[in-house]
Amino acid sequence: MSDAILESQPKQPTTTSSTNTVVPGSSKGSLDFGKLVADHRAYFLSGVTRSAEWRESQLRALHSMMKDHAEDFYAALWSDLRRNRIEADFVDVKFMTSEIDHVLSHLRRWMKPVPLSTPYQLAPSHAEVRFDPLGVGLIIGTWNYPLMLTLSPLVAAISAGNCAVIKPSEVSPATGEAIARFLPEYLDRKAFSVVLGAVPETTALLEQQWDHIFFTGGTSVAKIVMTAAAKNLTPVVLELGGKNPTIVHSSANLRVAARRIAFGRWFNTGQTCTAPDYVLAFKDVAAEFLKCLKETLVEFYGDDPQNSPDLGRIVSTHHFDRLVKLLDSGTIFHGGQQDRNDRFIAPTILTNVSPDSPAMQEEVFGPILPVLEVDSVQEVIQFVNARPSPLGLYLFSEDSSVTEQILSSTSSGDADVNDCTLQPTIHDLPFGGVGNSGMGKYHGEWGFRAYSNARGVLSHSTKIDIGGLRYPPYDHNRILREIVMPS
Ligand code: NAD
Repeated sequence: MSDAILESQPKQPTTTSSTNTVVPGSSKGSLDFGKLVADHRAYFLSGVTRSAEWRESQLRALHSMMKDHAEDFYAALWSDLRRNRIEADFVDVKFMTSEIDHVLSHLRRWMKPVPLSTPYQLAPSHAEVRFDPLGVGLIIGTWNYPLMLTLSPLVAAISAGNCAVIKPSEVSPATGEAIARFLPEYLDRKAFSVVLGAVPETTALLEQQWDHIFFTGGTSVAKIVMTAAAKNLTPVVLELGGKNPTIVHSSANLRVAARRIAFGRWFNTGQTCTAPDYVLAFKDVAAEFLKCLKETLVEFYGDDPQNSPDLGRIVSTHHFDRLVKLLDSGTIFHGGQQDRNDRFIAPTILTNVSPDSPAMQEEVFGPILPVLEVDSVQEVIQFVNARPSPLGLYLFSEDSSVTEQILSSTSSGDADVNDCTLQPTIHDLPFGGVGNSGMGKYHGEWGFRAYSNARGVLSHSTKIDIGGLRYPPYDHNRILREIVMPS
């Protein structure tokens, strides 16, 4: 953070209200969200946040926060999700620093206006696309990757020169509190605030007038968010979930497919929006694939997965109870053990699952993987297209014509061929859903663009002004007009 910005900020207490609401930028520190947004908007309108220097200073400050408090974040993630350090680094702590590094190394190029050619009848003129910040954004985070899914949208907001209010998920309280404690120590408090709370606070925040709302969570709450946004025609990015189909074709490398699917499904105990939600295995390889998958689970988590240091826990008893009910949707081929006091469910493979069963009707979002059998590529395409568009589609196949046929006949937010789940870790790949799994893309330049107004600017010279071509009376010069303005 630059000295100028540091000096401009009076030190204020971070926790300011008995309602567990943290409003670092507000002198009152109350639930007066109207004032909070107005203060941030006044700061935005001062123009401070537009410069590349300010954006870079904020990104560097966020980077320092992640490094200086890595231990605090590991502890918070352990407390919320019993997440081990390797996974915490991969998707939360070190992921954030690497994403910030990526943005810092490209930001100046992204900010540059893009020049465009203009038609000769308007010469001399110049057209360009500028990327203007939108203003003050609201970021509503979720709990499964409580750092990445709250701070990654913030990186995008900063990169485009916006102010933001961040509302971490109440379901991962330790991480939310860590964000609320440290972020104001590092970032420009006039531009950013953290609000802790649950549904009442989110509802009150959604009543404010925002310039952008970024929501990560489930489809039903997304509809509440979009309804609130519609009142002010506020643009939204909705990062939602869904049931991600994972196809294992007869040509697939079954051992590799099993390992990668197991990694994707059981990473973070299955609580991943991009995880394989169910497998469609071709009949001729289904038995062999299931054998490989079972062996992989024993390799990964041992015979007693409850004691594996690499397997986390279900985030809450509410989600534990929901998941246990899904175990009745088929035959337990592997796993199935559970311990409510420990919020533990073993990595579980379900077979003989009916497409009408609960495990195939709702997003699983836990350590249970239904495996269904299919006969043909056509059946796969029909199965996928009969359901809402997923966030990710995964295809294990060594036959490129099958791969191409399935990709070009289906729709999903993103897709992985011969792998799964990892697409959000590629900083430049657009990440986000389509249809029921969301709208809007982010990460890297896509995040910068999501938080920018692509403003077309056409500039003319006044030195030449040929009236006959464009001004009334239109009657004269018809021939010339037909030449330069063909239909
Ligand atoms: P959720 O929709 O219940 O909650 C998300 C946020 O919404 C929380 O901050 C919460 O406080 C707020 N909220 C909850 N109820 C609300 C209400 N009635 N009014 C206003 N705000 C409310 O989602 P969740 O259970 O936290 O997350 C699970 C879902 O999120 C899954 O569907 C998963 O696939 C999806 N998800 C998507 C992504 C992605 O990047 N696309 C990432 C992670 C999770």
